[in-house]
Amino acid sequence: MNILGIESSCDETAAAVYSDGEILSNVIASQTVHERFGGVVPELASRAHHKTIWSTVEQALSEAGTELRHIDYIAVTRGPGLLGSLLVGLSFAKGLSIAHNIPLIGVNHIDAHLYANFIEHEESYPFVGLIVSGGHTRLVHVKEPLKHDVLGETRDDAAGEAFDKIGKLLGLPYPAGPEMDKLAQDGNPGFHDFPRSMMGKGLDFSFSGLKTSVLYYLQEKDEAFIAENRHHICASVSAAITDVLTAKLKRAAEKTGTKQLMLAGGVSANSMLRKKTGILAERSGYKLMIPSLQYCTDNAAMIAITGSIMARKGMVGDLTMKPFARLETQSAKV
Ligand code: ATP
Ligand code: MG
Ligand code: FE
Repeated sequence: MNILGIESSCDETAAAVYSDGEILSNVIASQTVHERFGGVVPELASRAHHKTIWSTVEQALSEAGTELRHIDYIAVTRGPGLLGSLLVGLSFAKGLSIAHNIPLIGVNHIDAHLYANFIEHEESYPFVGLIVSGGHTRLVHVKEPLKHDVLGETRDDAAGEAFDKIGKLLGLPYPAGPEMDKLAQDGNPGFHDFPRSMMGKGLDFSFSGLKTSVLYYLQEKDEAFIAENRHHICASVSAAITDVLTAKLKRAAEKTGTKQLMLAGGVSANSMLRKKTGILAERSGYKLMIPSLQYCTDNAAMIAITGSIMARKGMVGDLTMKPFARLETQSAKV
């Protein structure tokens, strides 16, 4: 089964080809137009997707050594994300679907972050997944393919958003997560004790208090102090975020009795989080899956592999598919 994956939910135009358990190509065109604005500008993102989507798909097909007539399904991101950006990918996929008579599969981007793990790990259930991305922080219990019980989620900022916003306070370019990670590696995580929000309570998260606490902390310091100690501050902030994430993952594992854990989304690239969850897994005898770095942040390989799981379950869409901006709100938490 050959699947062409297309992703355009935010500021990455991406295409990939998946064939019977293997990713044959994984092309990502990252948009640079947003850099000077310190965040993604939706209208500019749509235009940039429009410009690059055809060449990105062509490159993915050619790197995979295949052609559209050999593609069995087109898997495309339906949401959540920026509506204008999603529309470019979805409309393009619909066009290809009509022109080449290829069935369409509409993929949930957040599910796809999770299933990215099955590119390199054998597909296996049940598992507890911690999705930590730019827009979402969510713990799910997945007992069978594509059936997710939400155990907890953030009440305000996402973990990636916390890294990005706090990084901005420290003068780092957007997105600040990767740079904070790099700086933190030379810093002392115990330099300052930032709050671990909601640590003792349930499986929900909150990161906006941490952001405010860093803001107040920085307001009391002069520029020279901040410049000199930026790596220590980055390490202390990273410690606060990753302590909470690791503790809640542990609690979710204990609550569900699941022996398999999974990290997903851009923040799963974070070295401190990878280390702490690695130690947790080793001490408690859990199997831990974390995607390799290229599959943590947005990519189309994750869309393609999720498409393959959906195809297996007959979850094929049609030309009436619409994009959606937000993830459904989960009323019933288990
Ligand atoms: P969503 O998937 O929720 O729609 P998104 O697609 O923008 O949001 P991702 O691409 O999964 O999010 O991840 C991007 C986020 O990951 C950014 O907030 C970025 O700062 C963060 N990030 C990437 N690498 C690291 C890292 N090494 N350490 C911390 N954060 C990181
Ligand atoms: Mg991005
Ligand atoms: Fe994402």
